[in-house]
Parts: sequence; C-alpha cells; structure tokens
Amino acid sequence: MAQLQTDVRYISGIGEARAKALYKLGISTLRDLISYFPRAYEDRTRLFPIRELPVGEFACVRAMISAEPTSQRTMGGRILVKARAVDEGGVLDLLFFNQDYRRSQLRTGETYVFYGKVEGDLLRRRMVNPLLEPDGQQQLTGRIMPVYPLTAGISQLILSRAIRQGLDACRELLPDVLPDHVRQSHQLCYVNYAYENIHFPDSPESLDVARRRLVFEELFLLTCGLHMLRSRRKDVAGPACARADLTPFYEKLPFSLTGAQRRAIDDAVGDMVSGRPMNRLCQGDVGSGKTMVAAACMWFAAQNGWQSALMAPTEILARQHYENLSPLFAQFGLTCALLTGSTRAAKRREILQQLQDGTLSVCIGTHALLTEDVVYHRLGLVVTDEQHRFGVNQRSALGQKAENPHMLVLSATPIPRTLALVIYGDLDVSVINELPPGRQKVDTYAVGESYRQRINAFLRKQVSQGHQVFIVCPLVGDADTVPDERKAVTAYAEKLRQIFPDLRIAVLHGRMKPREKEAVMADFAAGESDILVSTTVVEVGVDVPNANTMVVENAERFGLSQLHQLRGRVGRGSAKSYCILLSDNDGEETRRRLKVMTQTNDGFKISEEDLKLRGPGDFFGARQHGLPSLKVADLSCDMRLLEEAQTAAKELMADDPGLEALEHRQLRWRIHELFSLHAEGLN
Ligand code: ADP
Ligand code: MG
Repeated sequence: MAQLQTDVRYISGIGEARAKALYKLGISTLRDLISYFPRAYEDRTRLFPIRELPVGEFACVRAMISAEPTSQRTMGGRILVKARAVDEGGVLDLLFFNQDYRRSQLRTGETYVFYGKVEGDLLRRRMVNPLLEPDGQQQLTGRIMPVYPLTAGISQLILSRAIRQGLDACRELLPDVLPDHVRQSHQLCYVNYAYENIHFPDSPESLDVARRRLVFEELFLLTCGLHMLRSRRKDVAGPACARADLTPFYEKLPFSLTGAQRRAIDDAVGDMVSGRPMNRLCQGDVGSGKTMVAAACMWFAAQNGWQSALMAPTEILARQHYENLSPLFAQFGLTCALLTGSTRAAKRREILQQLQDGTLSVCIGTHALLTEDVVYHRLGLVVTDEQHRFGVNQRSALGQKAENPHMLVLSATPIPRTLALVIYGDLDVSVINELPPGRQKVDTYAVGESYRQRINAFLRKQVSQGHQVFIVCPLVGDADTVPDERKAVTAYAEKLRQIFPDLRIAVLHGRMKPREKEAVMADFAAGESDILVSTTVVEVGVDVPNANTMVVENAERFGLSQLHQLRGRVGRGSAKSYCILLSDNDGEETRRRLKVMTQTNDGFKISEEDLKLRGPGDFFGARQHGLPSLKVADLSCDMRLLEEAQTAAKELMADDPGLEALEHRQLRWRIHELFSLHAEGLN
C-alpha cells in the first residue's frame, strides 16, 4: 500500500537510474512526484479548420490524407517524407524529416489529428514534423498537455506517466489541509480535484479552478506559518524602553526629517516601548534617508541605557555610516566605534573591551560584529542595513548576541507591501515613500554599442567640467566557472586608459583587500580619480556627491532593481546627473526592461516591473530568506489571491492562534512540516 512518503521507485518504470534523475528535480517520494507541477501547458483541445490555422503558432487540425505520401532524399542527405492533407476548406502540406515510416503509416483517405507549429502563409499552410494520431484516439491531442521542467534522462512522457500513476496511488491519501469553511467561503475546489487537474486538466476552466485552489493553499499556509512564528515571538519580552521625546535628537540634525522618515521612526519607537521585541523592516528608495531612521532608533535605545549594533554588508558602507553618525552621536556624548575585518588587533581588543563593559553605546561594522568573541554589555537594538545581502540566518546570528533584542532591518529594495510580508515574512513593515526635498531625477539612457564614440566624448566632457564617473562592468563568465572580477575590471580599465590617457582611472573589485578598497573609494570620494571602474561592489550605499555620471556595461545582465540601486550612486550632488545603460542585446525583452529604467526613477514602480518580468524568485535568491519556496503561486500575477489568502489566514489565526481545533489539525501539521525544513532560519 503506497503512502505519500513512499519512494518514487514504487512507480513502475522508475528504477535506480530514473529515481536518481528525479532526485535532481527534488522528487524522492510520491508526494514530491505529484507536487511536481507543470511549468506550462499546451492546449491541444481546440481544432482549427485548415484555413484558420494561426501561422506562427502551435495548433491542432483534423484533416484527411488526400494522396499517397512521397519520400525523397534532401541535399543534406536527410530523408524527407511529404504528404498532403485536406479538410472542407483547405489544403495542408506535411513535411517529415528522417521519419521514413510515416510514408507507410499515413493512409490515403484516413483522417488524422495533427499538432504542430503552423508555417507557410495565408494561401498555403504547412507543418514540419507534427505530432499526429488517428482521429478519435485523443492521446496526444484533444487535451491540455502538461509541460514539465526536465532533467537529463527524464522526458515529458516518462514524467507524465509517472505522475499519472502517482496520482492514482495517492488518490485516497492526500489530506485536505484547508479547513472546510475556508475552502467553501473562498470557492475553492477539493484537493483531489486540484491535483488531478493541475496535471491533467479537462479544460482550461478546470485548470484555472485547480490552480486557484493550489495557489491559495500555498499562500495561505505560508501566511499562517508566518503568523505562528510572529506570535511565538510576541510571547517574549523585548528590551524595556520608556517613551521619550525625540525633539532633542531632531534639533541636532542638519536638516528636518521628511514626514515619511518621522512616521518610520514613530513606528519603530512604538515597537520599542511595546514591551515586545521590535522586528521591523524599514524600506525606502535609495536616498530616502533610512540611515537617519536607524540613527534615531539607536539614539532612543541609548536614552534607555541600551547598546546598539549596526551591521552593513560591506566595509565601505560600514565606514561611511560610521563617519556620518559618530559626530552626530558625539553631540549627545554617545560613544561609537567601527568594527570590521580590517580593524587592527589592538584597536579591536579595545573595542571589544568597551562593548563588554558598556562604555560604547553604538558599534557599527560588518560581519565582524558577528564573531564569537564580540560580547555586549547590554545590547538592546540590532540594525542591519541593506538586508537582502544578509540571510535571515545572519540577521538572527547578530540577534543571538542578546536575549531578544529589538531588530530593525533597512532595505533599499522597495516592494509592494503584501509582497514584503511574504519575502520578509516575520517582519512588520514601514515604508519611506518620500525623498528628501530637492532631489533631482537622474537622466537615463539605454543605448547600444553604436553610441560608444558619443559616450566617450560625453564622459570626457563631464570630467572636464570637474565631475566624476562610475563605470560598472558585470562579471562575465559562463555558468561553470567563477568569473574573475579582477581580470574583467582590470582589462576594461586598461582599454579605457588607452582612450583617455590623460584621465585618472581607478579600479575597484570584490577581490581586493578591504583596505585597498577603502583606499580606492576614499581617493575617489576625495576627487583624486576621475573615473572609477568597478563591479557591483559600488551598488550599495556609497556616497560620492561629485560623481554625476554612471555607465553600466552589459546592462541587460542586471535586474532592474539592481540597476536602480546602481543608479542611486549618482544624483547625490547638485549637478545634473546621468545614467547610461549600454547593451548590445536588442531583444525585445531587454529593450522593454531597460526602457522602464529610462522612464522612471521610482523604485517602487521599478521593482513592480522587475517582479512582473522576472518573478520574485530572482529577487533575492528565493532561498536566502529561509522561508518555504513557492511552487505554484506567481506573485507577479497572483497578488489578488495573495491578499485574499492573507485575509483568510488572519481571520483564522485570530480565531484559533495555535491551530488547536480538530479541523485545523491537518493544517497545523502541514505548516510544521513546511517550516521545520527551514527552521534554522526562522528563530
Ligand atoms: P538611504 O535611504 O539610501 O540609506 P541615506 O540615509 O544614505 O539614504 O541618505 C541619503 C542622503 O540624504 C544622505 O546624505 C543624508 O544625509 C541625506 N538626508 C537624509 N535625510 C534627509 C532629509 N530629511 N533632508 C535632507 N537630506 C537628508
Ligand atoms: Mg543606505
């Protein structure tokens, strides 16, 4: 008797070798097998008359062979079988390459159904190597065929046969995790119907019904699981803070904060006085001033006698934060230190000592903050900047340095709120949707190689006017080899030096020692080089107001959100700023993507487009955030359903927070199962 956990070798036709191949697809049990959903479908239900066959598309047609097929050898030595089929209104030519058996198979006067890509023109249509079967057979045509992602050794046919068997074996075994009342009130089908029709739909309608149920279920489970995680956290106490007036802090700032910054600060301070640990994501576009939100929180924590740690993804960024914030904190008598991988041993010892005895109020740094020997006297607030560079694991590792400290996460990837709830799952969200006054937009151009001369002239002109230029090169390499950043960037800079022998060209890449990077960046910031050639290491945070122009080579290789981040490096000063996206790829997709960049400077809009075009999986690397991955839901088009599932989950969890009711048992088990796989990331 099969169980959901039964090994796939249970299926006839699946032996050692195929089981191994299936394992590569993430399939080892029957449950995995039937949960391996198609990537796409081919609709072979609709039969077209020959006259109406859509040229350029795949389609089905029923037609009669009207003359004996012929066979000949082509110039290339292949065997070509030609046949002709007709229906009431048209003639269809059929060509088969290297399928000599078709000549005897196709009987004159018999009717067949053909499926293939329609070629030719409106007068005479043609199919090359179509699939075919006798009319009435309905195995290859007349239905909607699933298309699965494959791996070597596994064909569509093997997979769909195995899944057919798997579904038959599991029919009575699949528990319905959706409580009846939820299923009914959201008009969702039964679980068996859903599994059957997601693989082998009767019609486009039944596919929709099946898919809707599975997407809902997936998002519902995810939301319920996150809810349970959050409520688990809410059972513990956070570092105690008393409400305090922030005016003294605001008064010392060189500018007044935007309304959005103040709202984010109010949210965070509200969390910190709530008695529970804060767990908040503050997201805002590049340049929206997230650092000040963090600073206000750190100041507030210090007023309450707590130490704060601020972790940045790169040394450059950590230093910049330190240089901005330590004079500000000094005005309040708060001490602040910078701790990174390149902090010298003696200095490091001193900092560790001061963290431990509580002399230091604020520590800013990189991953170095995570090392074991860093011990805090009274750590109350942990801020991580540019969160998508860190996994949940690292975030929580810093959190381990104290018992349930307040956590604030800053992210410059603006994403729709509902989606943020999925991606950042266990966090509350504040959005800074307003830029400080006086920001100007960066003029952006997407151009091809033919503009090279003009771009060079343009760069020269910018430099001669006293400005500086960033040039970003992508890492070029194929999938198997780790691209050598140093080589790519250095070779590029060499070429550039030949074009601009009189300009000062500096190079920055990820393989350099932190100290070298620092030095290069500092020189550039001080105006001692004109052009900085780098990899995406400049992507985050760095502030060089005098740099007004950015060129991105092979721009098609970057995601839109990443391009937006990169572009955020310019437009920080008073000069008019430019971003030039170079790409030789003039595919329609590329052009459309890059065009978005030229049309808007709004990070939210850009990330929405990115989402539509690439899906959220790519966004941060789906795994990184430690949540179960989504198999059916496509957040770029299922946002409505996401909201519906989130509402339903919220209602259910309000009624039964621990999912203890009998009818919620299956749901609770499934959530535990899903989340425990990833449990290490979720504490
Ligand atoms: P990001 O959100 O990208 O981290 P930053 O915090 O680095 O942005 O802020 C970008 C720049 O804007 C910094 O130079 C900062 O001092 C400045 N800034 C922040 N808030 C304001 C404000 N309310 N008014 C004017 N300038 C501001
Ligand atoms: Mg920042």
